[in-house]
Amino acid sequence: MLLSPGFLIDGEFRITKEVDSFHFSVLSLCYVYRLWRFFLGLQARANPKNMGWQRVKVCEIFTSIQGESTYMGLPCTFVRLAGCNLRCVYCDTQYSFDNGIEMPLDDIVSHVKLVGVNLVEITGGEPLLQGSDTLALIRTLLDEGFEVLVETNGTLCVKDIDRRAVIILDVKTPGSWMSNKADLSNFDHLKRTDEIKFVICDRSDYDWAKDMVARFGLREKAKLLFSPALGMLPPRQLAKWIVEDRLEVRLNVQIHKYIFGPDERGV
Ligand code: SF4
Repeated sequence: MLLSPGFLIDGEFRITKEVDSFHFSVLSLCYVYRLWRFFLGLQARANPKNMGWQRVKVCEIFTSIQGESTYMGLPCTFVRLAGCNLRCVYCDTQYSFDNGIEMPLDDIVSHVKLVGVNLVEITGGEPLLQGSDTLALIRTLLDEGFEVLVETNGTLCVKDIDRRAVIILDVKTPGSWMSNKADLSNFDHLKRTDEIKFVICDRSDYDWAKDMVARFGLREKAKLLFSPALGMLPPRQLAKWIVEDRLEVRLNVQIHKYIFGPDERGV
């Protein structure tokens, strides 16, 4: 008598304790096949050229106007990856938390190429949650000649993002209820061409962001964006504070929300 945790019979997985020698041989072959697939997968991951093995979970891909950075107003293809490790109070992309399909990287790149827009933004959710697969996607798009923006919520290390990409690093303010999750060591990995974005909910957020800029010398590290949280702080009010303080930051309103409406998805 041979012991086995389970066996596939007529398409159903059934728990069984007794398996005869014929079934044992079939089982062994299955295990060998699985092991072979597993080692091939490891090999492929070690070689970035083997993109066919790498996948990311994608929530949506769409082309619109870039609405919130110094690239504002340019046509851009967005690749929104699924999943997020935060729950900001003002989140407008909650649909990305769970919804998504696994896509091979080469399918995504083919799709983006077909669209024919040079600027591509990898966003989420939180795109860096998908680790080396996201990094490979960024690298491949850059190798293909695209200009790549990576929008991240600032909780995961950005050090390994290809230096050719532009990082848009969100610094979550207390008004988001997520400020304690930020990885502040990320400031040391930024380039002058990267961007740091504060979404400001109220006056105390504004003062907090101002203090962060001074305390960490952020003006020297990257471009600075102050963005009013939609429906929480009127842009006019934020503009007034910035001008009053002669603060050298860029007021950044989400223009796609004004063009297409606050609830429109995929714009
Ligand atoms: S990080 Fe972005 S996607 Fe995640 S909860 Fe906050 S606003 Fe939503």
